[in-house]
Amino acid sequence: MKSIAILGSTGSIGRSALAVVDAHPDRLSVAGLAAGTSAARLAEQASRYRPAVVSMASPEALADLERHGLPEATVAGSGPVGLTAVATHPAADIVLCASSGTAALEAALAAIDAGKTIALANKEVLVMAGGLMMDAARRRGVSILPVDSEHNAIHQCLDRRPPAEVARLLLTASGGPFRDWPAERLQGVTPEQALRHPTWSMGPKITVDSATLMNKGLEVIEARWLFDVPPDRIDVVIHPQSIVHSLVELRDGSVLAQLGVTDMRLPIQYAFSYPERWGAPLPGLDLARCGALTFGEPDHGRFPCLGLAYGALSGGPGLPVVLNAANEVAVAAFLEGRLPFPGIAAVIEEVLDAGAAGPAAAPDSLAGVRELDRWARERGAAEVAGIQSSGSIRRGIL
Ligand code: MG
Repeated sequence: MKSIAILGSTGSIGRSALAVVDAHPDRLSVAGLAAGTSAARLAEQASRYRPAVVSMASPEALADLERHGLPEATVAGSGPVGLTAVATHPAADIVLCASSGTAALEAALAAIDAGKTIALANKEVLVMAGGLMMDAARRRGVSILPVDSEHNAIHQCLDRRPPAEVARLLLTASGGPFRDWPAERLQGVTPEQALRHPTWSMGPKITVDSATLMNKGLEVIEARWLFDVPPDRIDVVIHPQSIVHSLVELRDGSVLAQLGVTDMRLPIQYAFSYPERWGAPLPGLDLARCGALTFGEPDHGRFPCLGLAYGALSGGPGLPVVLNAANEVAVAAFLEGRLPFPGIAAVIEEVLDAGAAGPAAAPDSLAGVRELDRWARERGAAEVAGIQSSGSIRRGIL
């Protein structure tokens, strides 16, 4: 029996993880649940799965949760303290990091220190502190198992193969809803259009990231840390059908791929069951009904975010932190109607340039990461305000 703590239990990944628990009641139990602000949903989950510990993002959300009559002993608190208490609870064997954004950074590191196996769905954690996380995991002898479908596919293809046999990692990308749109049309993209992903159903931030291809950029950075492969050996290939989840090219030119239905329960279950394989209550992949599987190159001109991510990764250890923070600020502004779609890349590019010119030295501690993150968010907000007041973007594709 493995016991799971879920950071982000009421989100899309968290709910899929609980569906995996439902499918394997004899193998999986729930040790802890941490949620953001969805008190009613967390209360429902807690009464169903009886975790040893729960937490929420804020004291207000926690008060809301307590109104639902949870036993006091199970409530760990709120904010980073509550999140860390759930992530390090002695009852947990595996910690699924599935909260969005960067709130779970400290909790994820604390879980590693506590010797927990990490199932990682939150790519921001590695983008911000990949070096710190991987060092800590190596020191503690802890596995970080990727839940992100592409990295999960690569983990399956690598199958403990020695690094010297691996030539290249190939991350597939659906290309998002605007894959075939001309550049002029991208200027008028609305949040509603960006939130309509063709193949995956996900939260709003990652769906916008998929539309800009920043999601793939963050995944390149994530892959660099998870698999210890330099960026010039990580490629992105556009594959609109999202059936091939990613590929690994070996030194003899042979390419291994992992295919499957587009359902996050599969990679989540793989991380929970690893190194075993369990049955899954999902329809198998019917290749004959998939039709043609197509592959193409990403268009860096229309989707500059991918190139910005590669640039940040090779430009200096602090720049991925800057990239991630500027992207979060820009995406939030876009979703609130304060920034046009091409403005997202423009804001990130400006903040990266400013960061490269000074503040983005290598952060060697979480405090340093947080400080750089704060600087980039402020700078990003100023860039958004500048674009808003001038009504124009200085650079980018406009
Ligand atoms: Mg992914």
